[in-house]
Parts: sequence; C-alpha cells; structure tokens
Amino acid sequence: MVIGTAPPVEGARTSTEMAYHDEAVSSLVSSFRGGDGPVRLAKRTSNLFRTRRPAAGSGLDVAAFDRVLHVDPVMLTAEVEGMTTYENLVAATLRHGLMPLVVPQLRTITVGGAVTGIGIESSSFRSGLVHESVREMEILTGDGDLVVAAPDNDNADLYYGFPNSYGSLGYALRLQIDLEPVQPYVELRHLRFTDHAALFAAMGEICDAGAWFGAPVDFVDGVVFDRDDLVLTLGRFVDGAPYRSDYTGMQVYYRSLQRRTLDYLDTSAYLWRWDTDWFWCSKTFRVQNPWIRSLVPPPLLRSSNYWKLLAVVQRSGLDRRLDSLAGRGEREMIVQDVEVPVERSGEFLDFFHREIGILPVWICPTRQRDPGVTWSLYSMDPDVLYVNFGFWSSQMLGPGEAQGTYNRKIEAKVAELGGRKSLYSTAYYRPDEFWRTYGGDAYHDLKDRYDAKSRLLDLYQKTVERK
Ligand SMILES: Cc1cc2nc3c(=O)[nH]c(=O)nc-3n(C[C@H](O)[C@H](O)[C@H](O)COP(=O)(O)OP(=O)(O)OC[C@H]3O[C@@H](n4cnc5c(N)ncnc54)[C@H](O)[C@@H]3O)c2cc1C
Repeated sequence: MVIGTAPPVEGARTSTEMAYHDEAVSSLVSSFRGGDGPVRLAKRTSNLFRTRRPAAGSGLDVAAFDRVLHVDPVMLTAEVEGMTTYENLVAATLRHGLMPLVVPQLRTITVGGAVTGIGIESSSFRSGLVHESVREMEILTGDGDLVVAAPDNDNADLYYGFPNSYGSLGYALRLQIDLEPVQPYVELRHLRFTDHAALFAAMGEICDAGAWFGAPVDFVDGVVFDRDDLVLTLGRFVDGAPYRSDYTGMQVYYRSLQRRTLDYLDTSAYLWRWDTDWFWCSKTFRVQNPWIRSLVPPPLLRSSNYWKLLAVVQRSGLDRRLDSLAGRGEREMIVQDVEVPVERSGEFLDFFHREIGILPVWICPTRQRDPGVTWSLYSMDPDVLYVNFGFWSSQMLGPGEAQGTYNRKIEAKVAELGGRKSLYSTAYYRPDEFWRTYGGDAYHDLKDRYDAKSRLLDLYQKTVERK
C-alpha cells in the first residue's frame, strides 16, 4: 500500500499530534525525493556499537519523529513515531497504567531502532522480541515511497522483513504497538545456582509454566557472575510492596543480585534497572567506586552519558595509549548479544568460559510470540526457548592474532548450536554464510521491491563492512 507525498493517512487521526506528524512526513518525503544520492539517518542518539567507516551519503534529519502520538487504553495500543525513545514512550504509557510488551533496557533506544535492530527484555519469554508486538508500521522506503506495512496488507513482506534490516530497506516513521496493563510494583526473587545445568533446567520449566511454585512470573532474566555463581531473577507484578529499593543512587543493581533473595521496585524503576549502570559497564568509568559515585549527581548515571564518554575516549585514542604504556598489546572489542536454544546453552557457556572468558554475562530467555509466522531476516524456531547471552567487554589479542579472532569464534559456535547473533555490533561473516544466516533470498527480493536504486546501504555493507 503506497501513500502519496502529502499523505492522507488512514484511520481516525484527528489530534494535533497527528497533524504535526503528517506535516513532518510530507517534509521528510520531499527532502528524500529531492536527492538521488545515498542516504543515511542523522540521529542524535545511538545504541549501535560498531564504529562506522567515514560516512558516505547525506544525513536524513529525522529529529521531528520523536513523539508518542496516541495511547489507547481501551484497545491497548500506542501510536508512536519511529525515533521516540523508550524512556518517553514508557513515561506516556505508564500514565495509563500500561507498558509496551517488551521494553529494551537502555532509555535512549528508540522504537524504530529496536524493531529494525531486534530488541529483547525480561518479558520476552512470553512476548517475544520487540518487533513481535508491532501491529503496523508507516515506512519511508529506499525508493522514496511512503507505505504502511502490516501483517495482512500488500506490504506484508516488508512487515515481516523489516526486523533485522537496520534501516537498509527504509525508515519506520510511525508504528502502532501493543500495550499491556502493569501494576505499581515488581517483586523480584533472585535464585542462586552453582552450575549452569540446574539454572537452564529451572529457566526452561519456569518459562513453560509462566509460574514458579504456583506464583505467576511476569519477567525472567539473570546474570552469570562466574562458572559457579549464577543468578536467575524472577519478577512479578504486585499491587503492594513492603519497601522499594532504589538503584539510581549509591546502590548498584547488579550487585544486589548476589546480596539479596527478595526485592521490590517501582515498575518504572524495574524497567530502567539496567540503564543506571549500563548493566555493569559503568565500571569502566569508575562510578561504581562508592567515593566517586557519591560525587556524581544521580541524574548523570545513565547509559546515554556513558555512550558519550566512551565516544570521547575512543576518539582520543586514550585507551590504546594506556594499553601501549602498560606494555599491553592490541585488544579486541567483544560486545555482542547472541541467542542459543536453551538445550544447547550449557555448551555455549562452557565454550564461552574456555575461549572468551568475559564476565559477567547477561542471560534472558525469549520465545516467538506467534508460532505461526516467520520473520524472514531473523527467523527462529517457534517451538524452541532461546537464551540471549549479552556480553560487553574486550580481550587482549595474543601475538599474531588479528582483530576478529574472538568474534569469529563466537559466530562459528553460535551457528553450530543453531543460534542467532544480533547485528548491532561488529560482525565478521563471509557473504555466503551471512546471507544464509539472515534470510538472504527474502532480503534481496525486499531490496529489489523497496530500494531498487540502492539509495540505502545493504545489510551486509552496514553490519559487516561497517560502511
Ligand atoms: C552495549 C549494548 C547493549 C545492548 N543491550 C540491549 C538489550 O539489552 N536489549 C535490547 O533490546 N537491545 C540491546 N542493545 C541493542 C540495541 O537495541 C540495538 O542496537 C538497537 O538497534 C538500537 O536502537 P537505537 O534506537 O539506539 O538505534 P540506532 O543505534 O540509532 O540505530 C540502529 C540501527 O537501526 C537503524 N534505525 C534506527 N532507527 C530506525 C528507524 N526508525 N527505522 C529504520 N531503521 C532505523 C539505523 O539506521 C541503524 O542501522 C544493546 C546494544 C549495545 C551496544
């Protein structure tokens, strides 16, 4: 379904917000159609880890597309612009006692970015990945057409192929997403394990049942602190709490997993529990040291600020100079999220401890929400519970080892175990294995249909060649 340049978009779109949106769309479409060279997104924030090679193509200014257009508490849906951060979206939906089905942990991740780049959180064992609760998307395609992609219309191929396309087919300007009711608090139970086999067995049973000892479970994730120190955290909505912890000040959330068995958080604090310390990665900036932490105003403790600091350190080359002064060699960044079937997750962890050696590791189960569909660029077996492993650090390379040594091992192991790797960070796949893994045939059909002149870089160029 192609919509014209000044789009009379369907449905009851009466509010001022909708009128602004239509105006912004018209102006963006004109600006896109005004040129014929390569295009890329110009965006203020990013949670993409790979550093790009010098940019080719002009930046498309999408700053205007950052609003929540409408929350419908009856239909349990929200209409939201593509560059809206989850921080703003969640603030708007919580006012109605609702939340998106899956809220990625970092506040500045945008709805469009999470759909096109695959988003996961602790509700994913029951609600799947972020894109599985999108009802329709208004997309500006590489051909300059404005289309609505929905599961049952002419653009269903784009709807099912948009997740994992990383802006290489078009840009989502407006999305309609599902919401669900929340309660004011989340009760957390931290279960300690000394071996991964017991943890993955418990995770499988709890996710299948959606319950633990008869009590409902709304959220499941966990952390591998060491080979013999693993925590599985179960969360459930409750309408009363004897106390509420605060991890936005002196206390650090991930440390609480090893110290407590029971905890209570406001629902909003639960959703952002990982942002304050960027999981544990804020350690790099010493802000987990109590003395330093006491000097930092709490609002500054947030992932978007660590991104800025990291960018400064990387641009200045300070990290490389310090390594060199200390007589250390070159380091390889290993910042990845991978999904492995739960039955093979123990094998993955054994390999990971032996060959990679990064700790801690975030673990989060996910299962496809609708077993009857196929997401063409990121297909998963709907009968299988997968475990997402998130690890964000670096390792020193040995003499003669090239950049990519560790990441290649991970790619090979994940493929061997029937898993998938997210593409938001570095990737080293050869073209043939890449297209085999990420739906190459479907992708090339989509590229021909929606970006015939290749104004947008293709998925391989963006994610592996880092163009
Ligand atoms: C350290 C780290 C930890 C992470 N942890 C998690 C996690 O726990 N859970 C999780 O869900 N994700 C996680 N991510 C991944 C993150 O969700 C993805 O990188 C996501 O794509 C980032 O979205 P963004 O809005 O910041 O987009 P950007 O970083 O700005 O862009 C990401 C890609 O999406 C494209 N894009 C952005 N907006 C649109 C749009 N509207 N339409 C089409 N294409 C678009 C861009 O062109 C780009 O290729 C993590 C990433 C890092 C680096």
